[in-house]
Amino acid sequence: MSLDAGAAVPGGDPGAAVPPPPPVRATMLGGIPVADHLGRSELMLAQRSGEVGSVHSWELVTAVDGPGTRMTTFVAGCPLRCLYCHNPDTMTANRGVPVLADDLLARIKRYRGVFRATGGGITLSGGEILQQPAFAARILRGAKAMGIHTAIDTSGFLGAKASDELLDDVDLVLLDVKAGDETTYRRVTGRALQPTLDFGRRLAERGTEIWIRFVLVPGLTDDPATIAPIADYAASLPTVSRVEVLPFHQMGRDKWAELGLDYALEDARPPEASEVESAKAIFRSRGLTVH
Ligand code: SF4
Repeated sequence: MSLDAGAAVPGGDPGAAVPPPPPVRATMLGGIPVADHLGRSELMLAQRSGEVGSVHSWELVTAVDGPGTRMTTFVAGCPLRCLYCHNPDTMTANRGVPVLADDLLARIKRYRGVFRATGGGITLSGGEILQQPAFAARILRGAKAMGIHTAIDTSGFLGAKASDELLDDVDLVLLDVKAGDETTYRRVTGRALQPTLDFGRRLAERGTEIWIRFVLVPGLTDDPATIAPIADYAASLPTVSRVEVLPFHQMGRDKWAELGLDYALEDARPPEASEVESAKAIFRSRGLTVH
């Protein structure tokens, strides 16, 4: 309800002055207000409590990032440095803008009908969503309170930061397993594989549905010696309902150049259809449903 100028505040002191209107926030992120009115210390506190997140962008998508039509929100900041990252501008937190959890939830609310009609929901992605666990927890809680299906897309590297309460509000985890052996995983991401494996195991023990996602890059991740361990691992987790083999593409190349970053996969090519099929066959041979 809006108040006319000079009107009394409901429930307040009738003689009290009407409080000033909230500051007009001119900067928007695809229609969501940017919380650029916050001072530095205020912002840090709000980020710690999860009232504010560092958000890169968001979009409505269908048939990716989970079932149905989804509102996928990409946050900024990621501990990995994947050689094939197609959003290198999400790697550092300072490339995002501050967004209030309440403002993001207000936007999510608008699409409830779409989610209901398509069997969709929200997906929190990145960057790495678990680098902002308090913000993620607020969004997931708010979405569940609205009866919306929730997914997170994560490498799992920061899985230990996800509390059980946060995971209670997650219907589906898209777990990106970038290689099945330690050497290749480190080469691709610069980090260790074990936290991802531990997180997937924890999810399975909790009964959380998982889709395993794997990016096939010829010359980097196409050795059956790195794919087979992922397939064995996926098959060992009872809540994995699907595996997605995603063919590498070069659509992120220009972003690396724009950011002045060295791009190691300049000469890499997308896999042939037959190579994708061979990789899928490794997963199928373990009885997994593969897309
Ligand atoms: S985990 Fe995702 S966002 Fe992070 S570097 Fe890898 S591909 Fe990029």
